[in-house]
Amino acid sequence: MKNPVCPVCGGASAASPRLIECRGCGLAFETEKRFCPPAYEPGLEEGIYGSAKKALFREALDFLDRTFPDRGRLLDIGCAGGELLRAAAARGWLAEGVELDPALAAKALALGLEVHTRPVEEAALAGGAYSAVTVFEVFSQMERPAAAAAELLRLLKPGGVMYARDFNAGFHLTLYRLGETGLFGLPGVRPWVFHNMNFRARTLRLMLQRSGFRDIKIRNSRPTAGDPYRTGGALGGFLTGALKVLYYWLAQALWFITFGRVYAGSALIVTARK
Ligand SMILES: [Zn+2]
Repeated sequence: MKNPVCPVCGGASAASPRLIECRGCGLAFETEKRFCPPAYEPGLEEGIYGSAKKALFREALDFLDRTFPDRGRLLDIGCAGGELLRAAAARGWLAEGVELDPALAAKALALGLEVHTRPVEEAALAGGAYSAVTVFEVFSQMERPAAAAAELLRLLKPGGVMYARDFNAGFHLTLYRLGETGLFGLPGVRPWVFHNMNFRARTLRLMLQRSGFRDIKIRNSRPTAGDPYRTGGALGGFLTGALKVLYYWLAQALWFITFGRVYAGSALIVTARK
């Protein structure tokens, strides 16, 4: 069977045991699509969508507040139960979200938030209307991330900012391959996370450049608090959380000594302007 073309850059891809990788932009994507959103075990959702991300949401909103002291409209893609939207509204943003999962969208709607339930590129929202768009771990779950990125550019007003966080395939693929060798050897330790689309820093940069974004800045993201995905297994939440923070600083050190060329962090933060 012929390998599919890359859904981000249209380039040729090469198959590995589980994932297909694009030779052009470094995207790693799955041969079988998962349902969107991923089904987490009961009890994990609160951590994944909320408490583990509080500090990350705060960091994003601090940045957006500084950029737009007068606020404006903010659109959160994949808003889940409205955790980021509520925090944004409390700071004076006119915040609304996009959420495809009916149960999560209902939760956000019940809080009185405005939520669109179609994929953003099909939702026919007003162009040039938003000062800020936030995209937390959603490009990796999309069917058509490049089309969504182009639509986000259209929705932003001139000078508007997109703030995204996503998993770094450079990190997760490396760990996955190390894991295949049995290196971790501890029960339940599975520190990699895969989604439909797994972006490297250069993949995100290329996708946003092609969509027409400018001032694209990428950095390692601080980790989520604790162990919301339970990837640490026998290590438990506290130790896993501590190791993640230690690893973040090692990744930062590597980033500095390579003059910003190597992104080893488990997740990336991307900001870009229209
Ligand atoms: Zn590609």
